[in-house]
Amino acid sequence: MSAITTRGLTKDYPGGVRALDALDLDVAEGEFFALLGPSGCGKTTLLRTVAGLESATSGTIHMGDTDVTRMPPGRRDVGMVFQDYALFPHMTVLDNIAYPLRIKKRPRSVRHGKAEDVAHYLGLDGLLSRRPGELSGGQQQRVALARALVAEPQLFLLDEPLSNLDARLRLEARTFLKQLQQRLGVTTVFVTHDQAEALALADRIAVMESGRIRQLGSPTEVFRRPANLFVASFIGSTPMNLLPGRVREERIVAAGTELPLPAEARDLVTEGEAVVYGVRPEYLDALPSAEDGAFEGTVSVVENLGGSSLVTLDVADEPVRVVVGEERAQQLAPGDRAWARPRAGRVLLYRDGDLIT
Ligand code: ATP
Repeated sequence: MSAITTRGLTKDYPGGVRALDALDLDVAEGEFFALLGPSGCGKTTLLRTVAGLESATSGTIHMGDTDVTRMPPGRRDVGMVFQDYALFPHMTVLDNIAYPLRIKKRPRSVRHGKAEDVAHYLGLDGLLSRRPGELSGGQQQRVALARALVAEPQLFLLDEPLSNLDARLRLEARTFLKQLQQRLGVTTVFVTHDQAEALALADRIAVMESGRIRQLGSPTEVFRRPANLFVASFIGSTPMNLLPGRVREERIVAAGTELPLPAEARDLVTEGEAVVYGVRPEYLDALPSAEDGAFEGTVSVVENLGGSSLVTLDVADEPVRVVVGEERAQQLAPGDRAWARPRAGRVLLYRDGDLIT
């Protein structure tokens, strides 16, 4: 049984915005699940609808085998962390953490005992009598996590939990969050627009666009085999090369280059057909000289990535980006000729926007 199941979940806001469009989603028990997509694609709306903070226009939401579609948020057994943490500024850290138990009318001694346990677990021991304004961003985030966890919810919902932290703290908090989820094993759904964060944290990722899920899979699947051009261009710290091409005599011609047709695509394409040839910059190998089946072009830009460089080649007027090792990159300057070969087994072909191989 899934921890969350949605069927045909649709949310229309006044003014005719369809934020969720007939979503079918299954989140497994204990899973760390990411909702990823560009601004406005409906991630927050989906989270808030699952939490009961927004009502569904149509469709159903189940938690386990309970239909919660019309259940008020207080009865849904959900802990939520908001983007701005939404801590109560006038309350101490201890009272903030204990707040969900106060709502549940637990006795004071139980509230404080549990809040202290969770605070200890999250490394907040020395801070219990402070107010949120006296904490760093990372500490505030931990208080928000503690408050969401104190009532031991069945489901943990996180809306961009790391977005208010600076780059270094963000990385630390990311590792912390991953460890916390592994230790607790509580089903967690988190929203992010940062693909690196989703890839690093999640067991599975739903990539959303315009209120729909465009691909659902493990980080490896979504990175290695983006199901369509939207996901292909969204995932990856350096964008995938996506070159318009054509099938010609068992080869693909793209950026004026004759490239080998991936073996698994041989029976799936026809002569003369238009395709998009996709290869990540990481999967192009720089060569010292021209070779059959390799791109040849002029270096236009060399960007230092720290440890490697991103080299942009002009290949028959198409930019082709290649990740190149430090030593090779030092030998390359704008205007030089350079060559790069797509790694076998790492090439993707798209037809009408969808993955063929
Ligand atoms: P972001 O990453 O920017 O937070 P998101 O993917 O979380 O975006 P949502 O906040 O869910 O997106 O918004 C989805 C769509 O619904 C957007 O077009 C947005 O403008 C619209 N929307 C969100 N909240 C409301 C509202 N209360 N009233 C009307 N439209 C809304």
